[in-house]
Amino acid sequence: LTLLGIESSCDDTSAAVVRQSGEAAPKILSNVVYGQTELHAAFGGVVPEIAARAHAEKLDLAVEEALSKAGIGFSDVNAIAVTAGPGLIGGVISGVMCAKGLSAGLGIPLVGVNHLAGHALTPRLTDQIAFPYLMLLVSGGHCQFLIAHGPEEFTRLGGTIDDAPGEAFDKTARLLGLPQPGGPSVEAEAKSGDPRRFAFPRPLLDRPGCDLSFSGLKTALLRARDAMVAEKGGLTRQDRADLCASFQAAVADVLTKKTARALETYLAENPETPTLAVAGGVAANQTIRGALETVCADHAVDFTAPPLALCTDNAAMIAYAGLARFKAGHQDDMSLVARPRWPLDKKAPALLGGGK
Ligand code: ATP
Ligand code: FE
Repeated sequence: LTLLGIESSCDDTSAAVVRQSGEAAPKILSNVVYGQTELHAAFGGVVPEIAARAHAEKLDLAVEEALSKAGIGFSDVNAIAVTAGPGLIGGVISGVMCAKGLSAGLGIPLVGVNHLAGHALTPRLTDQIAFPYLMLLVSGGHCQFLIAHGPEEFTRLGGTIDDAPGEAFDKTARLLGLPQPGGPSVEAEAKSGDPRRFAFPRPLLDRPGCDLSFSGLKTALLRARDAMVAEKGGLTRQDRADLCASFQAAVADVLTKKTARALETYLAENPETPTLAVAGGVAANQTIRGALETVCADHAVDFTAPPLALCTDNAAMIAYAGLARFKAGHQDDMSLVARPRWPLDKKAPALLGGGK
């Protein structure tokens, strides 16, 4: 089976071709990603309207390039998978319209895919790990613990009640005048900093469950910065490094303690497959990744992280999630709608931020 995937839910326009023969390992034949970072750079964040227009402009090109890189034509495609949510609605609509046009024009089946399912199934695309597994999704827009039971079956154990960690890294960078995206620049700065200089809060650790919170951290950092500015007129290079290191330590601490809790809940019910998979841009952070690996080792759990290019937004994960759905007999038609919110776990209440 050969699927063409389309992704446009945030600020990456992507098209990809994924093929699977029977139960053999799936293969990524192409994965074209056009980023929009420079379009939004002047605004300090993704502007939904600009993103939607850029997707509409670039989708055709991305699809053509994905097919040519894969060395196939439309007649080789068995179905078109498209992100139908959650995400910035204008962008999702651009992708869904493009997929509907191709599906109707070429007479190829259409499969709507949940973007989060795309992220959550990526470890099966890259490493063929077995169900069930525990998934920690940590990106610019999401932070949640999911048990993946099957391609369409997820249980949400908890998630952020406000900001996602990537968002917190980006805001921290902005507060300290460091370049975007904030994650890599804060991490680089933190290397020469003292993680114990500022005692930033570790929210929700005193409460049971796997929910997390990151917005208080940003406020605490802002206060620490302003106190130093008021006291001595500005920040030294060392102050900035110490702020970054202390911030990063707090994020790592909260993530690992909650991961330990999620693992205990998960292992109680699924002792046969002790696996934690992480995805999302924040998983690229060496301190956070190292801390998560340690928690897994302590719990005798396997740790898997897909390569970074497949952790961040891309259409290969959408093609693969669509393939799983298509194989299970799912197909959509012209009534497929773009959804700004679409929780993976139908039983879990839709929360703000990470609950998207
Ligand atoms: P989604 O809609 O899936 O949340 P996104 O584009 O917002 O997508 P990703 O592409 O998965 O998220 O990741 C980008 C985020 O990861 C940014 O917020 C960025 O700051 C953060 N990030 C990237 N590298 C690092 C790093 N080394 N340390 C910490 N955070 C990082
Ligand atoms: Fe994403």
